[in-house]
Amino acid sequence: MTHRIGFVGLGNMGGPMAANLVKAGYRVTGYDLAEDARERAAAHGVVVAGSAAEAVGDAESVVTMLPTGRQVLDAYRELTAVARGALFVDCSTIAVGDARVAADLARVAGHRAVDAPVSGGVAGAEAASLTFMVGAGDADFAAVEPVLAAMGRRVVHCGASGAGQAAKICNNMILGISMIAVGEAFALGESLGLSHQALFDVASTASGQCWALTTNCPVPGPVPTSPANRGYAAGFAAALMAKDLGLAADAATASAVPAELGRRAAELFADFAQGEAAGLDFSAIITTLRETSA
Ligand code: NAD
Repeated sequence: MTHRIGFVGLGNMGGPMAANLVKAGYRVTGYDLAEDARERAAAHGVVVAGSAAEAVGDAESVVTMLPTGRQVLDAYRELTAVARGALFVDCSTIAVGDARVAADLARVAGHRAVDAPVSGGVAGAEAASLTFMVGAGDADFAAVEPVLAAMGRRVVHCGASGAGQAAKICNNMILGISMIAVGEAFALGESLGLSHQALFDVASTASGQCWALTTNCPVPGPVPTSPANRGYAAGFAAALMAKDLGLAADAATASAVPAELGRRAAELFADFAQGEAAGLDFSAIITTLRETSA
């Protein structure tokens, strides 16, 4: 019998992820508060339910892809009471502590639970090429692996509950800091009369090489597919980077780790992501780095 999946949160990431589960042969019943998200999912074969509770009622696996920890915990409080012996899989990026609370809520109600945040962005969600970072016991990891493999290319078992979220915020702390480093280098290069292409040609093949430079280059030209070439249309929104760096800074405080650059990156992105810049790709932070370097 076909494995039944309840999918809650059919937004930029969850929509294409649910569509890939349908393509892989799962029976997916989904729900989102937003009507346009429900309609897009329905067009890709997701059976749209009238509520989140209805979507997960007879599901064997319950996948959530929601914006923040508050929404995940609210959903878990409701959904763990209506699902029947399901495997709960949260793919949202949330705090390590919230992930552990969510898993406990599920276990106390008689379910299994894993945290499985992702890297790879909307393009990776659409192409089913995401990387999943999983926090779970061995048996739960074995159970969730085929479901995640239908939506991604790599599924990494990082440890027990919360370890997936820990890997995610550590990775994004590297990314946030390295985007600022690349932006500062271009701002400095500009003021020294260096062309963008010259700096790119050197750094992309030298020790400055990193994803923020070679894939998401913050200046137009050297990498034609980077958001800088389309007015910084996201991509990975600055507001989400600010959220992830805030989670990393909070985790650093809780663990008494200095993480000085991570904390500074969190401040810079929090300032930048206020107002209209919130929806821009995070590489647009270079615009403020030029101002402060002038
Ligand atoms: P999104 O805002 O596009 O989608 C979230 C969806 O959840 C929205 O459609 C919203 O209507 C829905 N929603 C909110 N509360 C709900 C509820 N109670 N019931 C049902 N639906 C509800 O966000 P996204 O870009 O898909 O990101 C989702 C998560 O994935 C976030 O935690 C984000 O940090 C993470 N993430 C995003 C990216 C990216 O590139 N966008 C990459 C990796 C991880």
